[in-house]
Amino acid sequence: MACRQFDQAADAINLPEAIRDRTKYPRRCLAVALPIQRDDGSVTVFEGYRVQHNLSTGPAKGGIRFSPHVTIGEVAALAMWMSWKCSLVGLPYGGAKGGVIVDPTRLSARELERLARRYMQEIIPFIGPEVDIPAPDLGTNEKMMGWMMDTYSNHIGHHVPAVITGKPLSLGGSQGRREATGAGVAHLVNLYLRDLKIPIAEATVAIQGFGNVGGEAALALEALGARIIAISDYTTGIFNPKGVNVRKALACIQSGLTLKGFDGGDEISNADLLTLPCTVLVPAALERVITAENAPQLRCRVLAEAANGPTTNEADRIIEQRGDIEVIPDVLCNAGGVIVSYFEWLQNRQHYYWSREEVLRRLHEILERAKESVDYQKRKFGFSRRLAALTLGIQRVADAKQSRGLFP
Ligand code: NAD
Repeated sequence: MACRQFDQAADAINLPEAIRDRTKYPRRCLAVALPIQRDDGSVTVFEGYRVQHNLSTGPAKGGIRFSPHVTIGEVAALAMWMSWKCSLVGLPYGGAKGGVIVDPTRLSARELERLARRYMQEIIPFIGPEVDIPAPDLGTNEKMMGWMMDTYSNHIGHHVPAVITGKPLSLGGSQGRREATGAGVAHLVNLYLRDLKIPIAEATVAIQGFGNVGGEAALALEALGARIIAISDYTTGIFNPKGVNVRKALACIQSGLTLKGFDGGDEISNADLLTLPCTVLVPAALERVITAENAPQLRCRVLAEAANGPTTNEADRIIEQRGDIEVIPDVLCNAGGVIVSYFEWLQNRQHYYWSREEVLRRLHEILERAKESVDYQKRKFGFSRRLAALTLGIQRVADAKQSRGLFP
């Protein structure tokens, strides 16, 4: 899917053959075996990856995913999208991604800590504050970033907070990082609703995935005045046309339960949530959930891609032909996370910390600039918004490679 998107974007901007493959292929990949001791004394070996897609525009940057569905191909696709995303929003980074094949809900807290530390230990030779800076993604969180930072720092012999972002505040995390991706999604949704002349107070929102991104997007959209009519996690969905009580649902998740244990509305399946009539649909869980089968049934006005790659290429074509849905493509929509990760890395290197207001103000500034450039590119060339965003990101990476020349 990522490769086909690249080919289409490269054709659209007539990217010269000589630079195409250099821009497309991942620069390098690492596969690691991760043996950990289980609480019952047995040993299990997990498998993990780190893929650096592009290092030509700065150190690589990208999250670490803990999921049973991880494959090296998925990690490579996500690394590729990180390259375009960082380049699109103008961050001095390349793109990377990491993943471990594991269902984190099946490990105890101590087993999870051992696995997070072991993964970091194995990738130490491959990463660093000037080389590749990981962050949280699906199935990983702040606490795990803290363990990984501690593992790296112990290995190096001194405190190195800039090696990883999305850390707890007490370890050099940034104000606003936890909510950054969701807050960025909400800010962009608000701007696009304004363009469409839809008052946000009249907007209804359905969100698939109620983790870091989905939960924070729900809070931020609610704070802006929107009504959240549906949420979901991997167990079930909750539908309440009067508005889901987001804080209560979050409290339920934070107490260690899933949405199965939340009684704030009627039960709805993840599949039905996607086709609910609503103003804004926010897929914030997995990739490829909007497919050729359900794309004709979508009943939203705005599709805000908070997850990476939630829409298949076939579904994308259907949505484009329909012409009645504004798509905020993933590389723009969820860029808030990596932008505030960049701020965290800057603060770690400067040993100077910003206020939450400062972080959010600068986040909004960068997102607004990126939105303007994407919409300008869209109008200028008659592209879809996704093609506009991808071509901008890809062109900048290709330009950097061209300017650097080919070594040796
Ligand atoms: P998370 O692990 O915090 O939350 C994931 C949510 O999705 C959970 O509520 C989980 O129950 C739900 N989920 C998992 N499998 C599901 C399924 N099969 N059906 C429905 N729901 C399911 O992860 P996150 O950090 O919120 O990431 C979500 C998405 O956002 C991913 O695509 C990730 O790549 C993307 N993203 C995350 C960040 C970030 O800063 N965390 C930044 C950019 C993009």
